[in-house]
Amino acid sequence: MRFLFLIFGLITAVECSSQNDAFFNERRKMVEVQLKNRGIKNESVLDAFREVQRHEFVLPEYMKWAYADGPLPINEGQTISQPYVVAYMTEALELQRTDRVLEIGTGSGYQAAILSQLCDSVFTIELFEELSKSATEVFRKLEYNNIYSKVGDGYLGWPEKAPFDAIIVTCSPSHVPEPLQEQLAEGGRMIIPVGAGNIQKLVLLQKKKGKIRKKDVLPVRFVPMLDERGEKY
Ligand code: SAH
Repeated sequence: MRFLFLIFGLITAVECSSQNDAFFNERRKMVEVQLKNRGIKNESVLDAFREVQRHEFVLPEYMKWAYADGPLPINEGQTISQPYVVAYMTEALELQRTDRVLEIGTGSGYQAAILSQLCDSVFTIELFEELSKSATEVFRKLEYNNIYSKVGDGYLGWPEKAPFDAIIVTCSPSHVPEPLQEQLAEGGRMIIPVGAGNIQKLVLLQKKKGKIRKKDVLPVRFVPMLDERGEKY
């Protein structure tokens, strides 16, 4: 009997931990309607979206739209991507629990938080110091302790921490940066929006026997990748 109470207590505690915010139902609905219905299948990926509180990553004035089906503005004229695009890119990386992942374009920090649920560690680079700082504060508040942030130009990657099992780029350069290809581990995958125009193509790359294979997967719209002088790559 005591054992049964213990089990019941444990189950209740686990349920409460993910239900203790006002957006619980909206988040569940987002997963069903925007992700599952559109073909996101990986259960671990879907669980990460059920868990991570997207409303913590948006500006207070946009909180009520945190689970809406689109991108939202964040500071410095940047955007937090549409949930479906975040899910699509995450699923495409086919992450393993032991993977070390590099993200270019921390932005709000939401994509990094999703990744942190699915792998060993996330290394994320942001060009704008203010964005990196506010994302890092949210990581600390929500206790995402396996995310390492730095301010800098992500075109160059993070050579001291390379190689990476997966690389995700959330701003768009006109070509795949050579340093990122070099920093991809053997067997590793990279997902990146490529193109100079308004609409880009999402490209999935894999390194096999030292060679890079590329596949175009989806048309997308991302903010441009900029260098430290603000020029587009
Ligand atoms: N992953 C983010 C999406 C942010 S939008 C999220 O989940 O919210 C893309 C981000 O890339 C912007 O914050 C922009 O400032 C950043 N960025 C642009 N060029 C960059 C560069 N060269 N290095 C690192 N970050 C860059």
